Amino acid sequence: MLSTPVNQLAGVGPAAEDSLHKAGIFTLWDLLLHLPLRYEDRTQLTPANECQAGKLVQLEGIINRSQEVPARRPIHVLSLQSQGLLIQLKFLNYQKWSHTLPKVGQSVRVFGQLRSDMHGQLELLHPTMTRLDAHKPNPLPDRLTAVYPSVGTLKQALMRKAIADALARLSQQPPSELLYQTHITLIEALKAVHLAKPGDALALSTGQHPAIQRLALEELTAQQLLARQARHAFAQSEAPALVAQTSLVTQLIERLPFQLTQGQAHIWATIAEELQQPHPMHRLLQGDVGSGKTVLAALAAAQAASAGYQTSIMAPTEILAEQLDASLNEWLTPLGVSCALLTASAKAAEKRQKLIDLLDGSLQVVVGTHALFQEQVNYHKLGLVIVDEQHRFGVEQRLALKNKGTHASQMPHLLLMTATPIPRTLAMSLYGDLSVSNLTERPPGRQTIETVVIPETRRDQVAERLASACQQGTQAYWVSPFVQMSESIEAHNVKDTAQWLKGRFPALRVGLVHGQLTHTEKDKQMQAFKAGYLDVLVATTVIEVGVNVPNASLMIIDNSERYGLAQLHQLRGRVGRGSLKSSCVLLYKPPLSEQGQARLEAIRHSQDGFALAELDLQLRGPGEVLGTRQTGLSEWRIADLLRDAKLHQPAMAQAQWIEQHTPERIAPLIERWLSNRLRFVQA
Ligand code: ADP
Ligand code: MG
Repeated sequence: MLSTPVNQLAGVGPAAEDSLHKAGIFTLWDLLLHLPLRYEDRTQLTPANECQAGKLVQLEGIINRSQEVPARRPIHVLSLQSQGLLIQLKFLNYQKWSHTLPKVGQSVRVFGQLRSDMHGQLELLHPTMTRLDAHKPNPLPDRLTAVYPSVGTLKQALMRKAIADALARLSQQPPSELLYQTHITLIEALKAVHLAKPGDALALSTGQHPAIQRLALEELTAQQLLARQARHAFAQSEAPALVAQTSLVTQLIERLPFQLTQGQAHIWATIAEELQQPHPMHRLLQGDVGSGKTVLAALAAAQAASAGYQTSIMAPTEILAEQLDASLNEWLTPLGVSCALLTASAKAAEKRQKLIDLLDGSLQVVVGTHALFQEQVNYHKLGLVIVDEQHRFGVEQRLALKNKGTHASQMPHLLLMTATPIPRTLAMSLYGDLSVSNLTERPPGRQTIETVVIPETRRDQVAERLASACQQGTQAYWVSPFVQMSESIEAHNVKDTAQWLKGRFPALRVGLVHGQLTHTEKDKQMQAFKAGYLDVLVATTVIEVGVNVPNASLMIIDNSERYGLAQLHQLRGRVGRGSLKSSCVLLYKPPLSEQGQARLEAIRHSQDGFALAELDLQLRGPGEVLGTRQTGLSEWRIADLLRDAKLHQPAMAQAQWIEQHTPERIAPLIERWLSNRLRFVQA
């Protein structure tokens, strides 16, 4: 039942199916795990005395006027008479659709955010509207209305209908309960989330609601079970001992244009030692943006090459792969180590040649995206895998690596590198077992980034300054938290931000990147920005960790009160990568909570990523900031490892109990929760 394809659900036609697939939603289960972003309370009407600008309201009344107001882009205005108030309902670009609007005399129910126009007149822009039937009762809904994260251009109503159908089907044929003793069944939890009761909105949005916790517990349990399986598999594995046969590593160190910092030298000694062991290294290297992790990757690759083994280096995007490849080539090629880039977008003939070189061993170091894990990529002698800024690389990917080794019993050594400090418990459940190295000092001579905190009432001025800086050749990032208006009316979204900037400053070359674009589309924008064809890159937080555009020296962040410290620090780290004096503008929506204030103060004063990450965990109020889900730190479906830290123990207990008493549930649990990630491995 859970694996019912989405196209069988009510209202899902081929176009909708296509959009859902693009968003990774294939089955009924996938759809039910697409949790609401927020809820609207349409269970009550708003009394007249509460109708003020800025408020979300639901009103019933009669249309008493309908007219098209001429303008460059005509506006259709309906006047709604409700409880003695007169409210304008405005529709932009509606010429083609004006016949679909209600006629004068029609009773309607509308829902939307009140604004006041230039004359202080209350208005609703594109409200949600229901026609009321004068001859029938028109009861208000008794559940909250869920607003889902956008999927392509799908209408919210369509998603609600499909989800209601999915829930109805599950009620007929409930999914099996796989956990031991829970207070809520799976189907009850799903209903509580999608058909939420008034009063539950806050607990649900912050993830504290028992239904969400129930779902998260099951997911964490599945992950625990997989991590345990992986641990057994790794414990029995061998790895090639990468003992250097030449002086390659020493040569590389001597030829570097800088001296290794003490921290780098120390970590390198540890890695060099571990690579010589016949057991697979499994090390996580954490180091702030710009702390100099790449050179350690190069050293490790040099040692592998010197021992006669190949190294495969994986980055999350093509642009990051290109950057890594450029650094490695600069260092390794002069020493006679062959190094090449392999990505999905390379020309077929070129790719074929590289695959041949990998297979016969003439290519020693290969850098690429997850295309490197595809079936047809085979190595002569793979000894080391390095994964940069790729948090999706969990135990399941590591299991897949086993098959890339030279012998069935051998697996390559693994070095994970990240600029996002990951708490240890989180790291353990993501990766099973691993050791951690922290690179805490930064290379000498780094400039600090001037950071200012400004209320968004001055957003206009900030934009003015941005435009004039860009005229002088500055490049800037502008980050807004959401993709489009439908996701949030309280915070900014990139589509509107980009439109707004283009409208105000026609000469400004504005690019746009967000999570709903394909990899190729994103890369194209990034490349254009890097090459200097764009002045401003408006983006959600998808602008990758580690992206290096040295000419970018200004970072503007909307609704900075919504982000955790670690994330603000990551975003800020996108500038200040060249010799240019750089700055970061944190815009916030007043009033700030006490915690919000403390967070922004901290980021203004500190440039130390590790200290900020610690503080972040302390300051994090439930639901106050976007969780790890939005930071891209995890590929969890429900759980948020920071938010749900207290579920870690119960999940471990569940996993133990299941292993001992109902081992037949292990496979179904892993399948239910992790098959989407396993799909990624096989992709
Ligand atoms: P990250 O840890 O974010 O991947 P990089 O490895 O890209 O950082 O390093 C950032 C910059 O610092 C690079 O230009 C690199 O060459 C330089 N760098 C690395 N180590 C040192 C060092 N010990 N002294 C001076 N510069 C260094
Ligand atoms: Mg890096």
